[in-house]
Amino acid sequence: MGSSKEEITVAERNPNQEVEAAREAFEREFERFARFTGSGVDISLNDANTEQRALAELRTKHLGKKSAIAGAKKLIGKVAPEERASFGQLVQQTEGSIAQRIDEAEQSLKSLIEAARIERERIDVTIPGRRPRPGHLHPITLMRQRIEDIFVSLGYAVEDDREIETDFYNFDALNIPEGHPARDPQDTFYTTEGFALRSQTSTVQIHAMQRRGAPVRMIAPGRVFRRDTPDPTHNPMFFQVEGLCVDRGITMAHLKGTLAEFVHRLFGPDTKTRFRPSYFPFTEPSAEVDYSCFNCGGPGCRICKWSGWIELGGSGMVHPNVLRAANVDPGEFTGFAFGLGIDRTCARIYQLDDIRLLFENDVRFLEQFR
Ligand SMILES: [Zn+2]
Repeated sequence: MGSSKEEITVAERNPNQEVEAAREAFEREFERFARFTGSGVDISLNDANTEQRALAELRTKHLGKKSAIAGAKKLIGKVAPEERASFGQLVQQTEGSIAQRIDEAEQSLKSLIEAARIERERIDVTIPGRRPRPGHLHPITLMRQRIEDIFVSLGYAVEDDREIETDFYNFDALNIPEGHPARDPQDTFYTTEGFALRSQTSTVQIHAMQRRGAPVRMIAPGRVFRRDTPDPTHNPMFFQVEGLCVDRGITMAHLKGTLAEFVHRLFGPDTKTRFRPSYFPFTEPSAEVDYSCFNCGGPGCRICKWSGWIELGGSGMVHPNVLRAANVDPGEFTGFAFGLGIDRTCARIYQLDDIRLLFENDVRFLEQFR
């Protein structure tokens, strides 16, 4: 009985009511999208994308070929002629209003998605930046640069040369023939084929004179190697600066004046120098050079081991055999040479108890020299 009543209802349903029902169905389902046309909508990019797809489905459902509105359009030709115009108008208005509301919501969603994308990609310039940790030069490099600056201002060129040498450059050319006892304390690391890691930067003297001839004025800072067991004052690899000045009429006085000027500039104008006779195979005469303690200036302190003096390095007049080995005529030219330890000077200045600290690469230690 219920079914027959329903059939009658459907059959008797006014086409206008069909359209009204379609509009109401749309309104119910569109409700959740209506909020997007307002302002101040807060929605995530993900949710906005989902809603956009749902809205597209809603459009198909209410305006597509199988929609109630499409069905109502087909009825236009079937209603009574006197009602046809007003019915047609109703269908069109309803369809137009549904389409407009979907369009508006779609447009708003598009804007929201665009805004959410911009927000996601935005760089917030107000957030404090992560500061990259700046590096800085190693204390040995800083010391080397100070030494280079002084000698360059005195007219010296800075030479760089190989760290792997032949016996000729490391020993023979420096007047240390095979079997010479001076080879022993300079025992180094040997490779095959007669090559060895240089045990002193004096090798560059020979290279420089061969390359430039005389006169020549140069310093050669660089790494040298010895077969030393590491301890607080020794390391198998360390840094030296070699100095060489060859010209006509060069004497010991030039050597003394040059090194005095060097320590004045490095440690202050009151610094004194002291030359002690010594022996090196490649210089004659030879002298050890000391300078007055930069800390106490003489009376003695922990840094100078209570002597008032600190050893700078070795020096002397270039041996004629060395000049000859580099094809420089000792009858015409004379010269002086000196060598000093960069890391040793560094350790003195910074009062390091253990020279190995300079090579261990411990950032906590190195950061102090920033
Ligand atoms: Zn002192």
